[in-house]
Amino acid sequence: MADPELVDVVVVGLGVGGEEVAGRLAGAGLTVVGVERDLVGGECPYWGCVPSKMMIRAANAIAEARRVDGLAGSAEVRPDWAPVAERIRAEATDTWDDRVAVERFTGRGGRFVRGSARLDGPGRVRVGERVFQARHGIVFGTGTRPSVPPVDGLADTPYWTNRQAIEVEELPESLLVLGGGAIGLELAQVFARFGVRVTVVEALDRVLAVEEPEASEVAAAALRADGVEIHTGVRAERVSHDGNGFTLHATGGTALTADRLLVVTGRRAHLDELGLDTVGVDAGRRYLPVDDRLHVTEGIWAVGDVTGEGAFTHVAMYQAGIVVADVLDHVRRGDGGADPSGTASVVGGAVGASALGTTGSSGSAGSVPRADYRALPRVTFTDPEVGAVGLTERQARERGVNVQVGLAELSSSARGWIHKSGNEGFVKLVADADQGVLIGATSVGPAGGEVLSGLVVAVHAAVPLAELRQMIYAYPTFHRTVEDALRNLS
Ligand SMILES: Cc1cc2nc3c(=O)[nH]c(=O)nc-3n(C[C@H](O)[C@H](O)[C@H](O)COP(=O)(O)OP(=O)(O)OC[C@H]3O[C@@H](n4cnc5c(N)ncnc54)[C@H](O)[C@@H]3O)c2cc1C
Repeated sequence: MADPELVDVVVVGLGVGGEEVAGRLAGAGLTVVGVERDLVGGECPYWGCVPSKMMIRAANAIAEARRVDGLAGSAEVRPDWAPVAERIRAEATDTWDDRVAVERFTGRGGRFVRGSARLDGPGRVRVGERVFQARHGIVFGTGTRPSVPPVDGLADTPYWTNRQAIEVEELPESLLVLGGGAIGLELAQVFARFGVRVTVVEALDRVLAVEEPEASEVAAAALRADGVEIHTGVRAERVSHDGNGFTLHATGGTALTADRLLVVTGRRAHLDELGLDTVGVDAGRRYLPVDDRLHVTEGIWAVGDVTGEGAFTHVAMYQAGIVVADVLDHVRRGDGGADPSGTASVVGGAVGASALGTTGSSGSAGSVPRADYRALPRVTFTDPEVGAVGLTERQARERGVNVQVGLAELSSSARGWIHKSGNEGFVKLVADADQGVLIGATSVGPAGGEVLSGLVVAVHAAVPLAELRQMIYAYPTFHRTVEDALRNLS
């Protein structure tokens, strides 16, 4: 076995979270090895947020053009997927090449290693034949992969995950989407707007089941208006592929057929691949358990989707800030463990005075921020967008909160009425009547995700309802609907 190479920190998985942690720690002067087996940047830039939002931008342009009729004359729309595929290939993913991202990381001083990493005992990470000894810590940002349900026959078929759906150059004539969550609905609407015959199959009794029921209704109606067929409360029992197309046999004897089948039924962390047993961490769990500083166990942190705290890029970035502060705090307090060779860069190195001094991003242990997900925003980028923060009404009631709810329709606001075609949506507020603050909110509409920002501030900072009622809301904006919903709180 090769002698271990001594470094300060090893970051395993350079997705959104891992790359941010690794880059910032390297920038602070630590010797950081970042290991990535696929593409630096992870799911978001190559097969997730960025290309899917490019697809949505294009599909929404088509929908807006179709709204010209009745508002501004007439417009003829001939959708063409080629410019969308080309934009994703050329602008978003560099044809799924991460050279720029690797250079971004090494440019910040990081050492890049391509390969699959696993723990090899306390402080040690193995990548093939190479072993790294981390003096100060190991950070896992290994993300998730699609979780495919155990449906009879499915595994033997050429089904799509989000990756094939994002990489598609030529659209199929028809598409079955298994899973009516955020990703399923976003992609279903995109493809439908480009003329694909789309059918969504959801086992639960409504799409977007984690959000308010009113949001599910608006989203389902919008997709149906785009021609999407939606089956809820229907469970896939068997899938077959005859060389040309798919047949999905569902509960109740339903048989659905399509050229392609997209499976978007959730995602799963693969903890069994990480060698966690060598440090006494249970790999049988769904996610890596972390405390509010993203600490897993002595010398190990985790960041991003693998923590199970919300599978969003903004969660990974938020957590990365805490991990960076906490690792630097550990380094400064010198509790990073023994340095057998005495050569680790942090000892008297560049990091000593400047990066870890009082002007650094971390302070004493007490000043390292703690993760707080009360005001975690989430946006489903369908048209209309579904933005939400904090608790739904049901979650609040289940927690025994003395709940007040206020709902106002977007179409009743001046802006919604002016907007006319495409003005579906609402603002729903969930308040804790005893505390006099909002603890959750949903904003659905053409700019539902943007309207959400004020509501996130209100939940995050626990702004008193009295203050929210005293504010001035610009006329005629969509967000004035918040004022109407506040008035309707009861
Ligand atoms: C279609 C789609 C649309 C999305 N849209 C949005 C959106 O609009 N907004 C939003 O906030 N989020 C969105 N997301 C979610 C977002 O992509 C993820 O939350 C984000 O990528 C999580 O980042 P991460 O760093 O935790 O993990 P990932 O991005 O998954 O990166 C983990 C990396 O670790 C690597 N890795 C894993 N194991 C090892 C190992 N043992 N050794 C070496 N490398 C390893 C993987 O190859 C991968 O590159 C979307 C996701 C999908 C699929």
